[in-house]
Amino acid sequence: MSNQGFHDTIVALATPNGVGAIAVVRVSGEDAIKITASLFQGKDLNTQKGYTIHFGKITEGERVIDEVLVSLFRAPHSYTGENSVEISCHGSPMIAGEILKALVRAGARPAAAGEFTRRAFLNGKLDLAQAEAVADLIHSENESARITALQQMKGGFSKILSELRDELISFASLIELELDFSEEDVEFARRDDLIAMIRKILDFIVPLIDSFDRGNVIREGVRTVIAGKPNAGKSTLLNALLKEEKAIVSEIAGTTRDVIEDVVHMEGITLRFLDTAGLRETSDPVEAIGVSRSVEQMKKANLILYLVDLSLAEVNHVSQELDAIRSYGVPVIPVGNKMDLASEDVKRALDDSGFILISAKAQLNLDLLRSKIMSLFQNLTLRPDELVITNVRHYSGLLQTKDALERVMESLEQKISGDLLAQDIRQALHHLGELTGSITTEDLLDQIFSRFCIGK
Ligand code: GDP
Repeated sequence: MSNQGFHDTIVALATPNGVGAIAVVRVSGEDAIKITASLFQGKDLNTQKGYTIHFGKITEGERVIDEVLVSLFRAPHSYTGENSVEISCHGSPMIAGEILKALVRAGARPAAAGEFTRRAFLNGKLDLAQAEAVADLIHSENESARITALQQMKGGFSKILSELRDELISFASLIELELDFSEEDVEFARRDDLIAMIRKILDFIVPLIDSFDRGNVIREGVRTVIAGKPNAGKSTLLNALLKEEKAIVSEIAGTTRDVIEDVVHMEGITLRFLDTAGLRETSDPVEAIGVSRSVEQMKKANLILYLVDLSLAEVNHVSQELDAIRSYGVPVIPVGNKMDLASEDVKRALDDSGFILISAKAQLNLDLLRSKIMSLFQNLTLRPDELVITNVRHYSGLLQTKDALERVMESLEQKISGDLLAQDIRQALHHLGELTGSITTEDLLDQIFSRFCIGK
């Protein structure tokens, strides 16, 4: 998609396609108000101020389609920065569809995916990272992901990055100037100041780069493996956790969402269980901990729940196995299952070695397990002012910026000529610019905005 036809007026359903109390049709573009007014029976919308709401009817010829509320926004004070209208109609796909068709017949055209937000970006209402955050926000599955996305939408790191980029640009221009005077061997840009400036940028971006892993866990969920011998109770535990999840999901009136994946939401944390297909089937008796596939899964996980059957546990063997699993470098929570069948001795011994004792079948102490998990991932709940990146594009952009800046630092330390220095600074500026969107290509924009749904 190109920016051609940027002056078109676009239209789309902004609410999910389905039956609801209301549906909202969004119109944006130079003629948004004029086109809507041509179908609207009520006040003349053409003469109304922005930020006003009007009751009336959407009609086409003699035919009344629906009674609606029209919210009016005048450029530049709207989401897209253009004249915009939001028509709230009754929430039936048929009615919304009729209104959309009428608007198209009156001169608007259907919007492409993400086109509203793309226009907001092109009109300078959002920078690129903010626009991407809008997509993240729509897709966010848990509280922490929502807060992170909202943070970035408010300007987050890209505002600071573009300020830093501006400072770097003024240095770059001094260095470029030196190149023009290379015969004279002058220094316009004080090297000490330049080093301090680059340190400042690195100090800002390195923690952001480090936050990526954390950000990913926030967004994608904690990849969790339940490990343990056959019959330890792994699938019983998974089902117990999922059962509550399904109950919560179906309690929310009107949600018919199937829980396809094995995902459990806790306060601000999402657990995403890996390799659960095997757990669903009857356990394979020859399978044991240490079988290659499960080791691979465990190494990829963010959390391992190591489950032992207390009624069979031998304390020595268990602690050896636990050491082996701990060596994968992934947080492990040791869990003793079937506490209802265990002897007091075994319970005491494992309790002393930090096991959480539960019964998956009788659903005993599951809340203890849950709070243990929460305490491990507590740092996933964000402070309101904290910056975390979750987006792969931002991550790789920041890494490239860091590389370029480190090369600048090296050149400075080795007192390398202005030429190479200028080149590395230009590189860093380029990557920073791509991050904030001050440098973009159509391809990049297409790639980013195709992630949106129509109507956003
Ligand atoms: P997996 O092979 O590790 O997935 O183990 P399962 O979840 O299939 O459980 C094996 C057996 O142990 C089943 O018969 C379960 O009903 C039983 N079981 C699981 N948890 C408990 C528990 O807490 N107490 C008791 N008594 N039995 C349990």
